[in-house]
Amino acid sequence: MILAIDLGGRSAKFAMYSEREDKIVHRSVMDTRGLMGQDVIEKMHDHFVKWCYEIELKRTEVKAIGFACVGPIDPEEGVSINAGGKFGWDYFPAKKTFESYFSQPMYMTNDARAAAIAELWKGAGKGLSEFLLYTLGTGVGGGIVIGEKIYSGAHNLANEFGHGGFIQDRKACGCGIATCLEGGASATGIEAYVQTYIKENPNSSLAKLQKTIDHPIEIKEFAHLFQSGDKGTVEAMREALKPLASHMSVVIYALDPQAVIIGGGPSALGECLIDAIKYNLAKCTNKFMLDLVDVKLAKMGNDAGIYGALYTALRGYVDDVTRSVDPDIKEAIKK
Ligand SMILES: [Zn+2]
Repeated sequence: MILAIDLGGRSAKFAMYSEREDKIVHRSVMDTRGLMGQDVIEKMHDHFVKWCYEIELKRTEVKAIGFACVGPIDPEEGVSINAGGKFGWDYFPAKKTFESYFSQPMYMTNDARAAAIAELWKGAGKGLSEFLLYTLGTGVGGGIVIGEKIYSGAHNLANEFGHGGFIQDRKACGCGIATCLEGGASATGIEAYVQTYIKENPNSSLAKLQKTIDHPIEIKEFAHLFQSGDKGTVEAMREALKPLASHMSVVIYALDPQAVIIGGGPSALGECLIDAIKYNLAKCTNKFMLDLVDVKLAKMGNDAGIYGALYTALRGYVDDVTRSVDPDIKEAIKK
């Protein structure tokens, strides 16, 4: 068994994976709100002990732990550099603390890496060796996979597609630089642009829909207009997705990937989202280049963090225990 924990800002998701069956056999969630520092890990350990008792699993059956947390990390040292400002985890020694509570080795990743790893292992990146992942949420997450491995950069800070540059001037980014991609291309950035469109087009279907809703309309609320091909909504979304396509085009030229995978909440919009991105890409990317790239939707959804953590643990375990490799774990990595 391998334990995976996906620690988000408010809760920690737990999954128990059987490498023999190659599937998750148990799941659990705990609330982490209000916890700080070492307490986060102590409470996760308490939860694990109680949960093992409930599911009648011997704790000694768990061989390794995969852990995904938010924010930048140093995976070799097992340190959370920031955890998105949560839990007081600035340069927090997560691996060391974990291993003082749990008796299993812990292998660490973060949310953005986990998503790319999950797509590579079981999702839309399966079978690919070179791809990019853009995760659109409250921010914009990135993933660069080269040679079937996630690229980490010289200081473990790679994959931050959301930040830097003069990419857009619609909405300031939370990082302090006003013109980052994240401000405009995150789900909230797209929704902010839709408000601008409504002001400029008071007779549009979007404006009519807005009149029936008492808060700024969200993507899921106008999804039906976009999916049914409403002219104004398609126009608004194409415009909203321009900064994203612009960024993507530059990275496509730089890295020549086989595919660009789009994940996060807005990916629930489906193929019409891909069509709108491709519409923009075609205007800023030469055909010979674009014809070689498959732009497609991510598959792992809310399970990306868990599967990314799982794979990180399997990989780490194999690399650590090279002389006595467990045949089931070796097989699971190949699947
Ligand atoms: Zn930024």
